Amino acid sequence: MFDVLLTEREIELKYKLREFVKDIPPSFLRKMDQDEIQYPTDYIKSLADANYLGLRFDPEFGGKGMGWVAEVTAIEEIGVLGPALGCLYSLPSIVGEAIQRFGNHNQKKKYLEKIIKGKIYCAEALTEPRGGSDFFGATCTAEKQGDRFILNGQKRFVVGSEGADVFLVYAKTDSESKDPRLSISTFLVERKFGVETKHVYGLMGSRGGGTGRLVFENVEIPEENLIGNINQGGEIFNQMMIPERMTSAAGAIGSARAGIEVATRYSTRRKAFGRPIQKFQAVSFKIADAMTKLDAARGLLYATAKQIDAHNGITTGIIRRMVSESKKFCTDSAWEIINHAMQIMGGIGYTNVYPVERLLRDIRLMSIWTGTNEIMSLLIQHEYFKEFLQTPDEKRVRDVENDAVGAEFTEEKVFE
Ligand SMILES: Cc1cc2nc3c(=O)[nH]c(=O)nc-3n(C[C@H](O)[C@H](O)[C@H](O)COP(=O)(O)OP(=O)(O)OC[C@H]3O[C@@H](n4cnc5c(N)ncnc54)[C@H](O)[C@@H]3O)c2cc1C
Repeated sequence: MFDVLLTEREIELKYKLREFVKDIPPSFLRKMDQDEIQYPTDYIKSLADANYLGLRFDPEFGGKGMGWVAEVTAIEEIGVLGPALGCLYSLPSIVGEAIQRFGNHNQKKKYLEKIIKGKIYCAEALTEPRGGSDFFGATCTAEKQGDRFILNGQKRFVVGSEGADVFLVYAKTDSESKDPRLSISTFLVERKFGVETKHVYGLMGSRGGGTGRLVFENVEIPEENLIGNINQGGEIFNQMMIPERMTSAAGAIGSARAGIEVATRYSTRRKAFGRPIQKFQAVSFKIADAMTKLDAARGLLYATAKQIDAHNGITTGIIRRMVSESKKFCTDSAWEIINHAMQIMGGIGYTNVYPVERLLRDIRLMSIWTGTNEIMSLLIQHEYFKEFLQTPDEKRVRDVENDAVGAEFTEEKVFE
């Protein structure tokens, strides 16, 4: 029903991606979940070969020059495969955003084009062992020495720490700065510069993406690998909220759709008390709730995508709020929808005979990564209060406080 919001080109892309997803063999997903694959380079290569990477980027570097609406449509389809494969599909979009917007021509040629064409694999290294939510508290340092920066420190939970060739790394370049937002820079760090993968994590779900801890010990980064200007990392991070959070939101919708479809089909076949369980309201109303949440989440996601496209992809207060709302609402809803799917299926849903238990394990991650949903709430309320308090009274539609029957009892309006 959302095709009505899409252009013909976007619809065509969506159904091509759907075919791509259908052709992925189940054995591949099973191997990912059983940790038999550490990092699926063939999968990323096949997406690149089909020209599905870098949808939003400049055609000069292999992109398609499309917008966020196209991208969320594509990621929802890939999200049916689960968050690990959704994330690996999204990383070129996330890392690519920094290069496309802040990088120079050489960086686009050397990195962006190769990432889009599947010649090199990329990852984003932001989170540190001492914490991920407090981005500006970063302790990794990059010290300028002549024509290079010397990188020291660690990053944790990096998807692609096993497997990626190049990392987008944030590090402190001005520890004296009074404003932490002006103390961090962003670099493209090749593995071969001396990046070490120290630990690959055992995960509850979303397996197979090579999620690990990176160690940088006097890693030499040539100065031409600085993205944008020195100490511009805060601004870059602010812009990166869009791809990080929109890709999570869109992927969650796809995974939730996959889960509820399995449960819906099951409910039409499984019988209890002599009739299909679909006929019990307790079951069919769960499907109603799930579909309402799914459509509401997708509606918010598409509105956000359209809003970003209308601002040429550049973040603003309203975009920050909508992107955070989308990430929070889509991922929370996906968790609830897949929970409903499991409940509808009873005991068999809890076993590995059906994929709902994997989807539930997988989806749990989504309210934690790319900024926890508590951090999303922090941003949403911050932006809304700002927006609200900055709107002059005359611009509000109506002073509804005066509509109360007792509005004139002003002595009852006590605030302190
Ligand atoms: C499987 C996996 C893959 C990941 N992939 C990547 C990746 O590729 N690259 C990358 O850089 N990172 C990645 N992450 C890291 C992820 O983004 C962080 O785990 C996340 O941002 C939270 O950081 P943290 O784990 O350090 O938790 P903390 O920051 O320590 O937070 C702990 C708890 O405190 C709460 N909290 C913290 N501060 C506040 C506050 N101000 N207000 C309210 N609540 C607060 C949080 O919401 C959370 O509940 C991944 C994580 C996992 C588990």
